[in-house]
This record gives sequence, C-alpha cells and structure tokens, in this order.
Amino acid sequence: MIQTDIAIIGAGPVGLFAVFEAGLLKMRCHLIDVLPQIGGQLSEIYPKKPIYDIPGFPTVLAQELIDNLEEQIKPFKPTYTLGERVDGLEKRGDGDFLLTTNMGTQIEAKVVVIAGGLGCFEPRKPVIKDLAEFENGKGVNYMILEPEDYRGKRMVLAGGGDSALDWTIHLAEIAEKVTLIHRSEQFRGAPDSVSKVMELAESGKIDLILNSNLTEVSGNGKLNKVEVSNSKTKETSTIDTDYLIPLFGLSPKLGPIADWGLNIDRNAIEVNTDDYSTNIPGIYAIGDINTYKNKLKLILCGFHEAALMSHSAFQYMNPGIKYTMKYTTVQGVKEF
Ligand SMILES: Cc1cc2nc3c(=O)[nH]c(=O)nc-3n(C[C@H](O)[C@H](O)[C@H](O)COP(=O)(O)OP(=O)(O)OC[C@H]3O[C@@H](n4cnc5c(N)ncnc54)[C@H](O)[C@@H]3O)c2cc1C
Repeated sequence: MIQTDIAIIGAGPVGLFAVFEAGLLKMRCHLIDVLPQIGGQLSEIYPKKPIYDIPGFPTVLAQELIDNLEEQIKPFKPTYTLGERVDGLEKRGDGDFLLTTNMGTQIEAKVVVIAGGLGCFEPRKPVIKDLAEFENGKGVNYMILEPEDYRGKRMVLAGGGDSALDWTIHLAEIAEKVTLIHRSEQFRGAPDSVSKVMELAESGKIDLILNSNLTEVSGNGKLNKVEVSNSKTKETSTIDTDYLIPLFGLSPKLGPIADWGLNIDRNAIEVNTDDYSTNIPGIYAIGDINTYKNKLKLILCGFHEAALMSHSAFQYMNPGIKYTMKYTTVQGVKEF
C-alpha cells in the first residue's frame, strides 16, 4: 500500500507542477498516470512542438518543458505509478482517501488532486469479436511498457503510424518473430522509419502484411492465432502468435472520473475558483480537467491553479495551523 499526503491523478504539466507547489508547503506527492511516461498531452501528442506562452521562455519545446518540470520537482522526491489508470476513488473519512488502479495498486492519501487533463487516453481498438477475452495479460496489449517482456516471443503488431513502425524496428531485435500488419500500402510515420521497416521485411527479419485487416483472434485461454484478410484479394491467412499489439493511436475519454460523485459539466469537473476545490471536500481539480467561468485550457492557467490548490490543501490537512507565505527566494527549495 502506497501512502502519501497528496495523490495526484495525472502526470501532465499541471500535475507535475503541483508537486512543486505542494513541496514548498512540505506535502509529499504521489503521481499516477495511465500512460507509461509523464508529460500528459505534451509528451503524448506534441513533444516537438514549440510553445510560446510560458512566462520566461520565449520558446520551449513541449518535451523540453516536461523535462524541466521533472528536474524542478526532483528536490521534493515525488513517487510515481505509471501505466495504470485510477479506477476507484473512495472517501473513507476526512483526510482519508483510498485510490485503486486497474492493476490493483492501492494508494492512501490525505488529499486527492485530479489533474487528469482531457481524461484517460484510451487505445483505439480494432473491432474484432472476442478481442476483450484476450486482454489483461492474455496476449492482447495496446501499449508496450517493457520491451524485454517480449524477448523470444512471436508478435503481431498492427498499425501504420510512428508507434507501429518504431516498435517493429525495436522489437525485430528482441522478439523471436515480428509480423507487422497494415491496412494500406502507405504509412503515416516518419519516412526514415518506413524505409527501415521495408529493409527489415526485404531481408526477412520481419513479416510485413499490407492491405490487410485483422479479422479474428483465437486461443485457449491465451491468444495463439490471429486471422487477417486482404482487402483487395479477400484472401485470409492465419498467423501463429503469442501477442497481438494493435497500435492504432489513443483517444481521450473522461473515463472513471465521471463515476466518483463529482459535479461534472460537459466532461469537466466543476470547481470553486477560490481554491479549485470540487464539491467533495479534500478533492481538488486543476488543469484542463476543470471548468469554471472564463476557463482557459492553457498550461499557464493550470500552474496558477496548482498554487492556489496547494495552499488550500495545506489548510485542509492542517486545520488551525496558520501558514505564512514566503517567496522561494527567501526559503529556497529545501529537500525532504
Ligand atoms: C496540439 C496541442 C497544442 C497545444 N499547445 C499549447 C500551447 O502552445 N500552450 C498552452 O498553454 N497549451 C497548449 N495546449 C494545451 C495544453 O497541452 C493543455 O492545457 C495541458 O496539457 C493541460 O495539462 P494537464 O496537466 O491539465 O493535462 P494533460 O496534459 O492532459 O495530462 C493529464 C494526464 O492525466 C492522465 N489521466 C487522466 N485520467 C486518468 C486516470 N483516471 N488515471 C490515471 N491517469 C489519468 C492522462 O493520461 C494524462 O497524461 C495544446 C494542446 C494541444 C493538443
């Protein structure tokens, strides 16, 4: 069981900066994100895009901003659970919350901060009967968290974007056999990656099946066969495999957050702008996930919300104790 002062759901820029603001007030944070890496939309959607509206940075690349935030919060020693979605949030008493992830990890916290952005990035799934039967450790995965898990295994990857191409190249060296299936002859990924995949196919290091769609999965408790159909010739073929990894991209969904008894307005959590608290005392919502009059979905606004939230969370955790605000230049950033 993980224990912390503040559980932060979402390790996007706003969740990360909340660690800094809470840290200045000596509150420890644990961050949970369904993605395998920190950075939220910036790392997942636009890592190489320049951002021009961060104070003090005339321009900064999205991933660079995330790397800087990670560095900035290091003195406060945040802990992380990555690649897991918070499914359950239970208030057991004042200052006593229990969070449970889809993988069964439990986190006890005094305060909960939802910095969930646009919600969970859910994988886009192919429409195939019985696919769900092989999810959750039975052969069908939508993300590659640890490539070494696939050493010596047979794998079918599907997709035509950077993710499918990059993993095909990387796993060609690790897996026993990699088959890449794509519905067309054109790839959406970087030309250099496309060339490498073609070379791997020509040299027989991987199998490349183009103009084809996944049509069937089967196995006995664990996946062992995938069927594909050629969209031009209509011919079908069966591939023996241990894993199927459809890499069709991610789309955001509010997900389990909608079921926690919070006041929701059009897929966002209503908050009090005094301190970004929600209708449940002890639960705050900051960043893109919240809504209020004149809300702007900007990183800058999320940072401001993180500062006000932290001071309110301190009061919630320490009723009656007066905190006198000091500038960081006065007190410095002291490590825990
Ligand atoms: C293409 C593009 C360009 C942009 N350019 C700019 C710009 O130039 N300047 C600017 O200020 N803003 C820009 N934005 C907006 C900016 O990216 C967002 O305002 C910012 O990402 C919000 O940060 P956040 O931390 O609130 O949420 P996010 O970055 O969305 O992070 C939220 C995280 O929460 C996680 N999560 C959600 N629910 C759960 C759950 N139940 N369990 C576990 N994890 C969960 C998600 O996986 C995600 O990683 C841009 C957005 C896009 C799409």
